[in-house]
Amino acid sequence: MNNETQYTKPFMCILGAGESGVGAALLWKQHGYDVFVSDAGKIADSYKKELQDNGIDFEEGHHSEDKILSAIEVMKSPGIPNKVDIIQKIRAKNIPVISEIELAYRYKGGSKIVAITGTNGKSTTTSLIYHICKTAGLDCALVGNIGYSFAKQIAEDPKSLYVAEISSFQLDDIKTFRPDIAILLNITEDHLDRYNYDIENYINSKFKITENQTASDFFIYNLDDELITEYLRKITIYSTLLPFSMKQEVSKGAYIKDNQMMIKAQEERVEMNIYDFVALKGKHNQYNTMAAGIAASVLEIRKEKIREAVQTFESLEHRMEFVATIRGVDFINDSKGTNLNSVWFALESMTKPTILILGGIDKGNDYSMIEELVREKVKAIVCLGLDNEKIVKAFKDVVPNMVETRSMTDAVNAAYNLSEKDDVVLLSPGCSSFDLFKNYMDRGDQFKAAVKEL
Ligand code: ADP
Repeated sequence: MNNETQYTKPFMCILGAGESGVGAALLWKQHGYDVFVSDAGKIADSYKKELQDNGIDFEEGHHSEDKILSAIEVMKSPGIPNKVDIIQKIRAKNIPVISEIELAYRYKGGSKIVAITGTNGKSTTTSLIYHICKTAGLDCALVGNIGYSFAKQIAEDPKSLYVAEISSFQLDDIKTFRPDIAILLNITEDHLDRYNYDIENYINSKFKITENQTASDFFIYNLDDELITEYLRKITIYSTLLPFSMKQEVSKGAYIKDNQMMIKAQEERVEMNIYDFVALKGKHNQYNTMAAGIAASVLEIRKEKIREAVQTFESLEHRMEFVATIRGVDFINDSKGTNLNSVWFALESMTKPTILILGGIDKGNDYSMIEELVREKVKAIVCLGLDNEKIVKAFKDVVPNMVETRSMTDAVNAAYNLSEKDDVVLLSPGCSSFDLFKNYMDRGDQFKAAVKEL
C-alpha cells in the first residue's frame, strides 16, 4: 500500500515517541482518531510495544514528510525544537501544532488542574502538592514533566484533580489550556538556546500558563522574583493573584516572618515554623513550600493536613540529597542542579566549609552570579567536565584550590582528598551532564556509587 492510499483518511500526527508522544497517541486513539507517530530517532522498546499493543501506526529513524504534512493536526513532543526542518514545514503549511498538555486539556472533563512551572523547583513543588493532596485523601494524579504523561493518565485512569509539572516547552504550543491553579515559581536564565537567546521569549513562554485563566482561577507567583514582577506590570491577568514572599508581608498568599510561614488563600490561615520542615531544607524549599501551601489552601485542604504533609514529605533523589558522612565529611548529591540559580540556592544553604563539584555542558553560565557565595563558603572547586576552561577562569583567583577531573570517581576522590573533618562535598554542577553522563540521574547515581566506594 502506498502512502496516499493509506492516508486518504484524516489522521492526527504525533512527533516524538517518548512519554508525551505515546500518551498523546493513546488518548487520541481512544477518542476515535487515526493516529500516526513519527520519531526521527530510535523508539524505546517499551514505548514501541505500547504502540503496537494499541494498534497505533508509527515509524522511527526518519520523518515521512508527505505523510506528516497531510495530517489534520500535529502534537509536537516538548523535546523537539522549533527550528527543525519538519516543524518549519508543518507551520508553513498552517497545520495546527499543539503540545501534549493542550491535548490532555481537551479531554479532562470536569477535573481540576494545578499546573506548576518555573525555572527551578518544579519537580519538588509538584511532588509536594501531590503529597499534600494525597494526605488529604483527594482523588488526584501526579503528571507532566515529572515523568508521567498527562494525556496517558486521562486515557487510562482519569482523576478529579491533576497536579501537573509543566515545562516552558509544553506551554509554547497551548491554545486553550487553562489551569484552575497556576504556579510560577521563578524565572532565571535557562534553555535560552531554545528561545533565540532572548530571555523575553522565555518569560513570555512561562507566562502562557496564565493566558487562558479567568476570574474563577488562581495565579500563585513569586513576588521576590524581579523578572516576574516586572513582567506582571506589563500584562493583564484575569485570575486571582496570590503572591508569596520572604521580603514582604502579603494579605493574601504567603510570606515568612521570624521563621514563621503564614499562608492564607481562603478563610483559614495556616501557620508553620520553618524548622519543622524535615526534608524541605534551604531557602529554595521554603519558597517551594509557600507555593505548595497556597495551592493546598485554595483547594480547601485543612491546615492540619497541610502541616502533616509538609512534615512527612521525603525529598527527591538528586536534589540536595544527603548521601553519607565519611570520616566527618558530608556528601550531598544535587546532580539536578543544572543551572547557576540552583547552585546559588545549594550554596546558600551550606553551613560548613564546602568542596564544590562543578561543571559539565555550560548553557551560557555567568559565573559571577555565584562568586560571592563561592568566596564565602567554598574552599575548593573540583571541575568535572570535558571543557572546564570557563570555570577555571572564573574562579582561579577566588578559591584557594582547584582541580580538573573527567570522571566521577576522580572527582569524588579529589574532593575527598581536599576535605577535612566537618567539611561538605557538594555535587551541584550548574551544567548539563551530557558530556560525561547519560543524564543528571546517571551523574547522581555515579556520584553516590563513588562515595560508597570511599
Ligand atoms: P525542576 O523540576 O524545575 O528542574 P527540581 O525540583 O527538580 O526543579 O530542582 C532542580 C534543582 O533546583 C535542584 O538542584 C534543587 O535543589 C534546586 N531548586 C529546587 N527548588 C528551587 C527553587 N525554588 N529555586 C532555586 N533552585 C531550586
